[in-house]
Amino acid sequence: MIRALILALAGMSLWAADFKIRLTAADGGAVVSLPLEKYVAGVLVGEASILSSDEAIKAMAVAARTYAVRLRGRHSLEGFDFCGTTHCQRIDLRGASKRFDAIAGETAGELLWFEGKPAFACYTRDCGGFTEDGGAAWPGLSASYLKSHNDPYCPRSGASAWNWVATTEAIAEALRQSQLRFPAQFEQITISERSASGRARTLVLSGGGETVAISASSFRFAMGRTEGWNTLRSDRYEVRAANHRLIFQGTGAGHGAGLCQLGAEQMGREGRSYRDILTFYYPGTMVGITGRGLRWVRLGGESTAMFTTQPDQDHSVLAEAERFSRIVSERTKLPLPVSIEIRVYPDVDTFRNATGEPGWVAARTTGTRIHLQPAAVLRSRGVLEETLAHELLHVLVESQAARGLPVWFREGLTGYFEHSSEASQAAATSVDDADLRQQEDPTRARLAYAQATRRVADLVNRYGEGAVLGWLKRGLPAELKNTASSHAPMKSR
Ligand SMILES: [Zn+2]
Ligand SMILES: [Zn+2]
Repeated sequence: MIRALILALAGMSLWAADFKIRLTAADGGAVVSLPLEKYVAGVLVGEASILSSDEAIKAMAVAARTYAVRLRGRHSLEGFDFCGTTHCQRIDLRGASKRFDAIAGETAGELLWFEGKPAFACYTRDCGGFTEDGGAAWPGLSASYLKSHNDPYCPRSGASAWNWVATTEAIAEALRQSQLRFPAQFEQITISERSASGRARTLVLSGGGETVAISASSFRFAMGRTEGWNTLRSDRYEVRAANHRLIFQGTGAGHGAGLCQLGAEQMGREGRSYRDILTFYYPGTMVGITGRGLRWVRLGGESTAMFTTQPDQDHSVLAEAERFSRIVSERTKLPLPVSIEIRVYPDVDTFRNATGEPGWVAARTTGTRIHLQPAAVLRSRGVLEETLAHELLHVLVESQAARGLPVWFREGLTGYFEHSSEASQAAATSVDDADLRQQEDPTRARLAYAQATRRVADLVNRYGEGAVLGWLKRGLPAELKNTASSHAPMKSR
C-alpha cells in the first residue's frame, strides 16, 4: 500500500540509496555517502590499478559491485557500510577517472548471481597459477563457484615469482608489533600444513628448543603491516633458513580465491569478454541484472540511449523519453547533455539491487544515467510520464549545477519546473537537506520535496526565473546561503 502511494511521488531519486563509506586516513577518514556506481568506480581505482584491458576492468566492476551488494552493512555497528581499506574494498576517490567511470558504467547494475542470490565475489591480485578454495580463505564459507582450480592465464602474463629475504630479528619484530607469539630464540620456520591448493596454512616457528604454531595468514598479515605488503605477497611459498635469515620463494599475490586480476587481464588481452572472465573464475554463476540472467539490450534514440531487457515492451518508453527531453529542454532553456542513458529494470527487486533504493522510489538519477522501475509498474500507477519528466529535468539541472549547490535548491528547481503552474500547500519556510536524503520515512520526504519546490517558486516570484536559473550555474547569492536552509552539512557525493 505504501509503495502504491509513494510511487506517485516520482521524486526521491538523487540521494536516498547511497552507500556509507569510511574513507582511509589518507583520504581524510570521514564517512561519505556515495551512489553505488561511484563507489564501484572508486574501488576500481583502489583495487584494480594493475588492469588495463577494458574487459578485465568490466569483470572487476561486476565483482566489486556484487561484493558491495552482498556484504553491505558489514560495518553497520560502527555507522557505515564499508571501510575504505582492503578489509572491505580499497577505495581511492582522488584517482577517479572518466575511463573507469565509463567502463564501470557499461556494466551498470550487473551482478554475479548464484542460486538467485548475489555471489560472494571475492578477488585476488595474482593466484600464481592455481586459485585458492574460498573456504580456505574464509573459514566457514562454502561456495561451489570458489573451488580451487588451475589458472593457465596469470602465468602467461609474465613473472609472478617473488623472493623475500628477512632477518629473524626483523620477522620477530613484526610478530611482536602484531602481538603474536614466537620462540625467544627464534631461528627457523617450517610449513606444517598446506591447503588443498598447496598454500601454506599453518607454520611452526622454532628455536632454542621451543616451537610455536601460527596460521600462515596471521603471519602474512603481520609481515605486511610492518614490513610492507610487497614482501610476503601470498601464502604460496617455500621457506628455508640461512645465516640468521629466512628466505621465502613464492608465486602469486593475495589470498588467491575468486577472480585473479592478473589472469583476468591476460584473458582480456587474449580477446576474451568480461563474461568469459567471470565464468572462468566463478564457474556456475550467472552474470546479469537479475538472478534469471536477463541481459541489457541497447535501444538508441536521438538524444537518449535506452537499456532494457524487454526491448519490445519498452520501445514506447524510449519514444516518450525523446519527447520529454525536447519538452524539458525548451521549458528550462537548458541544453540536453550529449549522453543521456535510461535503464529500465525488469522488476522491482532488480531495481532495488542495482540502485539500493527502497521499492517505493520510482527512479534514481546519477549524472546523466536514469534508473527506472519497470515501465509496467510506473504505468499502472499512472506516473510513467511524470517520472520521466522529473528525472530528465534532474539530468538537465545536475549537468549545469555549480559545485556545492544545496540539495533543496536542486530538487526545488526540478520541482518548480515540473509544477510551476500548481500552487503548493506546503509552508515555504526552511527545508532540511537531510529530509530529502533519508529513505526511512516517505511522508517526511514528500513534505520536504513540496517545501523545496515551494521555496524555489517563491524565489522565482521575488527575483525572476532568469536570475534563479543563473544561480544554478554560478551558485546561490550570499544573502541566501546562510538563511536558505539546512543545518545538515552538504555531504560529499
Ligand atoms: Zn572493512
Ligand atoms: Zn591466476
